[in-house]
Amino acid sequence: MPIRVLTPHEAARIAAGEVIERPASIVKELIENSLDAGARQITVETRQGGIAFLRVTDDGCGIEPEELLVAFERHATSKLSTEDELWRIETLGFRGEALPSIAAAADVELQSRTPGALVAGRIVLKDGAVEHQGSAGAPPGTSVTVQGLFHRQPARLKFMRSAASEGGQIATVLTHYALAYAEVRFTLRTDKRTALSTPGNGDVRDAAAAVYGVEVASELLPLETEARAQGSLKIAGLAGSPAVSRANRTYISLFANRRWIRHRALTFAVAEAYQGMLPAGRHPIAIIEITLPPDEVDVNVHPAKAEVRFRNERAVFAAVQRAVRTTLSARTPVPAIDTSANPAFAARFANASPPTGGFAAGPGFGTAQAAPRSDVPDFLSNTPQAGAEAVARPQLPASGDLPVLRPVGQVSNTYVIAEGPEGMYLVDQHAAHERVLYERHLRRLAEGVRELQPLLQPATVELTARQQALLGTFSEQLTASGFEIEPFGDGAFLIRAVPPAIAEGGDVTRSVGELLDLLAREDGPQDDPVHRLAASLACHGSVRAGQTMTEDEQRELLSLLEAAEHPRTCPHGRPTTVHMSASVLARQFRRR
Ligand code: ADP
Ligand code: MG
Repeated sequence: MPIRVLTPHEAARIAAGEVIERPASIVKELIENSLDAGARQITVETRQGGIAFLRVTDDGCGIEPEELLVAFERHATSKLSTEDELWRIETLGFRGEALPSIAAAADVELQSRTPGALVAGRIVLKDGAVEHQGSAGAPPGTSVTVQGLFHRQPARLKFMRSAASEGGQIATVLTHYALAYAEVRFTLRTDKRTALSTPGNGDVRDAAAAVYGVEVASELLPLETEARAQGSLKIAGLAGSPAVSRANRTYISLFANRRWIRHRALTFAVAEAYQGMLPAGRHPIAIIEITLPPDEVDVNVHPAKAEVRFRNERAVFAAVQRAVRTTLSARTPVPAIDTSANPAFAARFANASPPTGGFAAGPGFGTAQAAPRSDVPDFLSNTPQAGAEAVARPQLPASGDLPVLRPVGQVSNTYVIAEGPEGMYLVDQHAAHERVLYERHLRRLAEGVRELQPLLQPATVELTARQQALLGTFSEQLTASGFEIEPFGDGAFLIRAVPPAIAEGGDVTRSVGELLDLLAREDGPQDDPVHRLAASLACHGSVRAGQTMTEDEQRELLSLLEAAEHPRTCPHGRPTTVHMSASVLARQFRRR
């Protein structure tokens, strides 16, 4: 076939495909335009997941009528005046590709009125060509209506998922911009129903409450950045406490200079900061806002501007991890008693029915409002807001460690009751001990201490195929931890040495089998074999639920827990401690 140059029309369609993949990409481009136009209110309306119809309306600066046509030309932008500016982009758009790309993929109508004008300019494009231009009555701002997406490109239309799935992606886009621009009021109307609306009052937490529900929002901790200036790199935002986790990483939202970005490695870095605080397969909720000089980040890597490159990636990662980690260890509150897990407890102790509805801002994007809570005792609500948080840790040292606790006794041979400066603490003895042993183990490893107890008489153990495989997978970590185990033929193994803690337990053969089974468990830190073995050893070596503890043992456990680096959770992410503050007790007994 002879070589020929594509017609501008063909070229436009090909380029459009890079920017416009699906309805959500249109919404993203239009929202970015609205934000660049200084909008304070942005409304997105969709029908059938945006495939049939979508409209974005803003109250921004608008476009002059005589510029409507040029706005739809490829590479036409008001956002760059010199080439140099390309290296320090401060607007969300700059490529001048969105409007022409949308017009190449769908029918578009744009109405726009500048603040001084009496009427709005209106332009209608079909198949990339102008069909009508004139004026119309409309409030100041811009509205772009997109219909019949890909109806001229059946091949692309085939790639659309269900309306629900496309609509879900639109909601995701909107959600992220709502979190990044808390001062803007966002509304999403899907098939005439308001699916999301944010207050636009400038408070990220309120935006997060609209997006994730009040319950989650109350568990979001403001990121603590060190006072010491980090050059001009600043990290802000909110990090979810380990009490609220999710099954995937999509709840980690990253923004660089207020642009929503996708960055696998950075997402992973955030998740990693929660190492040992969340159960396996659970991921945090976090809103990370990175501010850095525009020339430190290259946003021109990808046509949809979704990926960015940081000039100094290591510094950005380190700053983000430090901010999250510091916040978590300083601020992880001891969870208030969650009676939803055990309504009988509530009934017995509080003579009040457990909270119903109200707080349960469902998954999805409901516009959750705080329920009136006057009749719900504080500790029943499972939201440590409303003073409970302030009560929970007034005299705590800066590190957020537990206060000094005095053992009072044991309940069900499972929980240690303790008294602290601010009320009563219930400590899960197994979880607490796990935390202590886990950290001790990691500390020894870090110090390169290999504690090993050679057995006078090597023990033999028969291992299942699964256990053998685990032995192979973790061989390096097991050796570093003091195990010496060698094959003895036919599924049998010879144990020559074990860590002292295992030797003390007596039955070494059984312990090794149990430990390998613990390594196979689905919870606990998954990604990292070192942490995983540490968690398994800790679990194996910890005092069990149901085991009676003497007062001295209780005291010992509490003081070890107080000294732990992250005393609030076990390595699997369960809480170690539940706090009932003095004021909650007083309220329960109607002393005030
Ligand atoms: P870019 O955003 O990269 O400049 P677009 O194709 O998205 O390119 O938009 C082209 C131009 O149209 C923008 O530079 C801007 O001047 C104008 N424009 C688009 N949308 C709006 C809007 N909602 N409000 C005001 N001006 C807009
Ligand atoms: Mg744009």
